[in-house]
Amino acid sequence: MTDPIRLGIFGFPVAHSKSPEMHRAAARALGISLEYELFEVAPADLAAEVRAKHDERIDGYNLTVPHKETVIALLDEVAPGARAIGAVNTVVRTVDGYVGHNTDAPGLVRSLEEAGVRVVDSTVVVVGAGGAARAAVVGLANAGAGEIAVLARRPEQSEALIESLARHVDCTLEAAPLSEADWHFDSATLVVQATSATLESNPRAGEFAAMLPIDTLPPDAAVIDMVYEPLETAVLARARGRGLNVVDGLGMLLHQGAIAFEMWTGLPAPLDVMREALHD
Ligand code: NDP
Repeated sequence: MTDPIRLGIFGFPVAHSKSPEMHRAAARALGISLEYELFEVAPADLAAEVRAKHDERIDGYNLTVPHKETVIALLDEVAPGARAIGAVNTVVRTVDGYVGHNTDAPGLVRSLEEAGVRVVDSTVVVVGAGGAARAAVVGLANAGAGEIAVLARRPEQSEALIESLARHVDCTLEAAPLSEADWHFDSATLVVQATSATLESNPRAGEFAAMLPIDTLPPDAAVIDMVYEPLETAVLARARGRGLNVVDGLGMLLHQGAIAFEMWTGLPAPLDVMREALHD
């Protein structure tokens, strides 16, 4: 019998993660032996814990908040996309050592494509300018988006994002304050909600959604909310009310996991099984 593929996820906290169930279900469906553990590690302990797992020759791992940026210094190599984004969510053991990737960016693109959203030559508005927004900008630019405007409540945050990403992407980028959303929404073909404002835990999510000028979007525009708890966020509910194409954040979670699974196992990810595990 061959040794199991040994994987895990570093986070703080991490108990809420849906990744273990998703990857275990995929392995069961394909009949392969795979272990996927939770590594709840405080920021101050990350370096020691990651080095210990490398010494044990772990096959690969995921990283979630707050470790996606700090892990970079601990890796042997970082793929160009992840380097541009400044965040790694997937690490793979190779003959050259531990290599970091960002599968959030292509995961977002795959989830949009699956929902029939055209990315090539799109006019995109990204709302928010944190880590998820950075992944969105790089993923969409690499997939052929025409123009991307990044809107943040603190304009200096969107300006810094654009400044740091401009040399990495071949796409027109613009930063603007969220208060100027009207100007950008009326010509957008795709809105990417990349803030944490629509999370279930935010009692003011409804207010945030009401402030976005969803009514000014063209009728053929699409709206994705990266947040998946709840699945139907206040922003998606408004967009659905207008009859727009809406995409929830679970598809991105699924596809970032599927890409990671394929990197670790070399096998095509059983998407339906993984999707079902997420919904459960
Ligand atoms: P960050 O904390 O790095 O960034 C959050 C961003 O949201 C910041 O720009 C922040 O602005 C902004 N923001 C928060 N509240 C508000 C508000 N009320 N009004 C306007 N802007 C606001 O988080 P991430 O970028 O890492 O993640 C964002 C969300 O994306 C998370 O909640 C997560 O659930 C989701 N996500 C989903 C993934 C998926 O696979 N579907 C993958 C990754 C993330 P400020 O700095 O001013 O507070």
